[in-house]
Amino acid sequence: MSKLEFTINQNDRQARTGLLQVNGRQVETPALVASGDELEKLSPLQLKQTGIRAVKTSGLKRWLKYDSVTEKLGDLHQLFQWDGLLFVDLETEEAYRLAKPRGKKHDGVRFHDPTTGQLKFWQPATALQIQEVLGADIFQSFDQATDYYAPVDDLKAGVKQTNDWLSVVVSQKEQALGSIVGGGLRDLRTASIEAVDEAGLSGYRLSGIPNNLDDPEFSRIINEITPKLAEQKLRYLPAALSFDQMLVAILAGVDLIDSNLAAKKAANGTALVNQGASALHLDREHFRFDSQVIDRQCACITCQAGYSRALLHSLITNHSFYGEQLLLQHNLFTLNKLMSSLRQAIKNHQTKNFIQELLQNQ
Ligand SMILES: [Zn+2]
Repeated sequence: MSKLEFTINQNDRQARTGLLQVNGRQVETPALVASGDELEKLSPLQLKQTGIRAVKTSGLKRWLKYDSVTEKLGDLHQLFQWDGLLFVDLETEEAYRLAKPRGKKHDGVRFHDPTTGQLKFWQPATALQIQEVLGADIFQSFDQATDYYAPVDDLKAGVKQTNDWLSVVVSQKEQALGSIVGGGLRDLRTASIEAVDEAGLSGYRLSGIPNNLDDPEFSRIINEITPKLAEQKLRYLPAALSFDQMLVAILAGVDLIDSNLAAKKAANGTALVNQGASALHLDREHFRFDSQVIDRQCACITCQAGYSRALLHSLITNHSFYGEQLLLQHNLFTLNKLMSSLRQAIKNHQTKNFIQELLQNQ
C-alpha cells in the first residue's frame, strides 16, 4: 500500500486537470470511474482497450455473499486481472434503505439481507476491512446516508454520525477519502468539510447527492460545495449522473466521477455518439440494413473491426450479450475520449466553449 499522491497540473477557472498516483497506478483527472459492473462484463483486455483506468465494484454485496470468508476472495485486481484503479463500494445508501428505523445504530446499520433474510450488521470497521481485503486502491469512509430532502434534524444527525466515523479511517488517512454529507444545506455541508479537513484525510467523497436531483439544484449544490474544499485535495463524486450533470461537475472542479452511463446505454441497445452528447438507438427498425459502423471516426475496437449498425441491431434485438459487450466497449471508449478532450480543453483554457459546443450538438 502506498500513499495517495495527487498533483494539480492546470486550472481553467474552477475546472482542473491533475495526476492521481497510488499503489503504482496512475490516472489523469478529470476521469470517470466506471461503475456499471464492467469487471464482470468485459475481459481485462477489452476493458483496457476502452482506455478506462478506474472501476468501482460492490463491497457490500460481496460481503453479504461471503461474510467472514470474504478475505478468501483476495485482491480483486488479481481475481479480475485488472491492473487499473479499484474502488470498493460500501453501498451505505443501500444498507440504510434496507434498515428499519431502529436498525440505525451508533456503530453501524443493521438490516435483513434481502436474499437470505439473515440479520446483518454493516459497520465502519468491517467496511474498512472489506476494502482492504478486496484490494481497494483508495479507501472511503463510512457514512450515514440520509435522504437529500430529509428534515434538518435528520440531516444534522447524519452529519454528526458521519463525522464521528471518520476516526475509523484515520489509520489509513494517506489513502482515504472522507465523506461530505448534509443534503442540500450549506451549513451542514460546511461542518462536514471541516471534519474531513480536521481528520487530515487525502480527499473528499461528495456523498448524498442523488442521481435524480434536477439540474438547477445539482448545479447549485455542487457549486456551493466545491469552493469550500481544500484546493490540493482529490474530489470524488460517487453519483451516477446524467451526461449534462457530469459536465457541470467537471466545470466545478470535481476530479473523479462515477459513471454507469456507458453500461446503462449499452444494456438498452444505445450507442453514444457526438462525444457522448447524443445517442443512436440501435434497437430501432431503421438500423436493420444500415451497413455503416456506429461512428466512422471512432477508434474503438467495435468500430475498428467494422461491425455494422445492422449487425448490432440484430444482436441487440436477439438479446445477445455479445451485442451488449460490443456496445459497452464503444460507449466506454467514447466517454473516456471525451474526458481526454475535456482535459485538453482545460489546458487550453477553453473548457466553457468546449462544453457549450458539445451541448449544442445534442
Ligand atoms: Zn466506436
